This record gives sequence, structure tokens and C-alpha cells, in this order.
Amino acid sequence: MLQDKFGRVIDYVRWSVTDRCNLRCTYCMPEENMNFVPRKELLSFEEMEQMLRVFGDLGIKKLRFTGGEPFMRKDIMRFFEKVAEDSRIEHWHLTSNGTLLLPHIKRLAELNISGINLSLDTLSPERFHQLTRRDSFSEVWTCLESILENDIPLKINTVVQARVNFSELKELAALAKEKPLDMRFIEYMPFNGNASSQRDFISAKEIENELRKHYQLHAIPMAPGATSQDFKIDGFQGKIGIIAAHTRTFCGSCNRLRFSAKGNTQTCLYGIENVSLGKLIKSNASDSEIKSKLTNLISGKPRNGFEAEAEMLANSGQHRSMSTIGG
Ligand code: SAM
Ligand code: SF4
Repeated sequence: MLQDKFGRVIDYVRWSVTDRCNLRCTYCMPEENMNFVPRKELLSFEEMEQMLRVFGDLGIKKLRFTGGEPFMRKDIMRFFEKVAEDSRIEHWHLTSNGTLLLPHIKRLAELNISGINLSLDTLSPERFHQLTRRDSFSEVWTCLESILENDIPLKINTVVQARVNFSELKELAALAKEKPLDMRFIEYMPFNGNASSQRDFISAKEIENELRKHYQLHAIPMAPGATSQDFKIDGFQGKIGIIAAHTRTFCGSCNRLRFSAKGNTQTCLYGIENVSLGKLIKSNASDSEIKSKLTNLISGKPRNGFEAEAEMLANSGQHRSMSTIGG
């Protein structure tokens, strides 16, 4: 079992399988000149299988695969077949932009995937194009419908920004009325810290207030480890969630570890990536060497995101892109 020095049991890994992406969301990546990880530094299929085994041995029960865009890795379905076979993993999920997912949805349903989070920030194809710098709205929409047809539990992740989609909140929330899916509104994290990105920040409270203008929200108590404050609305098929990603009100019960495409760990979203595990995995280390390193790294998990961020800024002085961290 993995436990930190504050007694929090870590049983959930958010696993970024690649930092590459076919979209260029303005809040996540620059249009050009992204320095992607060289392919030989990404974990190989065999190294990923080793880590699946190690995580299972250490009591990890839930995995979420993210990126970059997970389906930028051509062999990723091969790996998901292995994940589905591992009985110690009770829940496994995927976060995707939905542009490359369609051919795999039926098989993912057969593999009993626990759920998919699809990122969709707008219902306007033109705005989608501006925001992602790619004209792919219709692919994402077809994917959304196919996920529902295949009965895979679906959550839509929507990052809320002032001058981008704040005006669409009512319509976006109504998706959970029309369809059996949950909507999750995420506070935009101004990663680059510049004035323009700060100007677009909308707090979780402002999101809630805006939704309350149109709907009667009934708060559902937050489960331990949850990052989303969920609400029910009468007559809606799905829930509405609000994630205070920037104001981070959820650290006390955090049960997660982030694991990167290079095999590095990040014990807090707001903190530093530790490169020592990736190097160890790439040196053909045994399962027991990796387990002891991981146990050691977890013991240093910071108390909360503010402490972690202060440490990160003191060390590197800069934020990174969500595409490396995985969201
Ligand atoms: N490419 C996949 C996708 O977009 O769903 C998975 C990776 S993406 C980094 C994971 C999540 O992080 C997405 O829901 C995305 O909207 C969110 N994200 C990226 N940059 C963000 C930012 N600056 N603030 C808040 N959320 C962000
Ligand atoms: Fe790609 Fe997801 Fe980042 Fe958009 S948010 S650029 S889809 S990794």
C-alpha cells in the first residue's frame, strides 16, 4: 500500500501515456514549437506493462489514462487490453479530446472501461476551431454520440474562460438534460501566468453563480478524494460538476499520483515532476527496486497544492503545459 506522511492512502494513478497531441488548445499548448519528448524517452509498451504490474502490487485500484492525446500512441489499445485483464485494477478511465477515439469505442466498451471523459469547451464549431486551432468539432460530436450508444459512462470536461465560453454555460449545462452524461466545468488554470490569461480566469464560485441564474442546483456531498463539487438539477439525466482546479479546495483528501509518459512521478498537480523513477525504469530496474523508489517518493507528497506550487516556483520559476502533466 502507498501512503504519504499525512496518512493519505494513494490508490489512484493519473497516467499520461504521451505528451503529443493533434489539437492545439490555446490554454494548453502554443501553436508551434512545442518541445515534445523524443520517442525513445517515452516508456515502451513493455515498460508500461511492468508499471501496470507494479502499481497493482502497490494497491493502486484506479487508473486514468490521459495525455497529450492518448490515441496519438498507435499501440495504446494493445496496452488497454492488458489493463482490462488485470483484476486488481477496479476502475480504469480515459480522458480524450475525442478526435481519434471513434474506431476504438466499441472495443473499449467490450473491455468494460469504467468511463470516458471527453473534453469539449463549446457547442459552436467555429469557436471550437478558434479554441483548438483545428476544425474537428464534428469528429468530437460523433464520438460523443458513439460513447453513449455503447453505454460507456461519459463525463464532458469543459474549461471555463471569460472571453471564450462563459456565455455558453447555460447551453453546455443543458447537455446533461438532453443526454445521459455528466457535465464538469473546470476552472481555467492560467499556466503561463501572463496578464491576458489571468483576465480569462473565472472562479468556481462565479461558475456556480452563473448556473444558478438558470437552474436550481442541489449540492451533492463531495466524496473523499473527489475534485468536483457535484450538483443535481431536477429533470436532468446527468450531474453538473464544478472543479476548483485553480483555487484547489480538495487537497486534504487527495489520493492520487501523476505518472508521466517518461515514467516520472508528480505527487501533486501543482508541484514538481520528479525524474528519478523514469531513469530507474529505463535502466531495466526490477519490480522491487521500482516499488521501493515509489514508496519513497510518495512519502514526500506535499500537504497541498499551495505548498507544492511554492516549492516548484522556487526551484524552476515556471509553470508547464497541462499536456505534459495530463490534466
Ligand atoms: N488531450 C486530452 C483532452 O484534452 O481531454 C487529455 C489531456 S488534457 C491535458 C486533460 C484535461 O486538461 C482536458 O480536459 C483539458 O481541458 C484540461 N486542461 C488543459 N489545460 C488546462 C488549463 N490551462 N486549465 C484547466 N484545464 C486544462
Ligand atoms: Fe491536446 Fe488535450 Fe491539451 Fe487540448 S487540452 S491541446 S486536446 S492535450
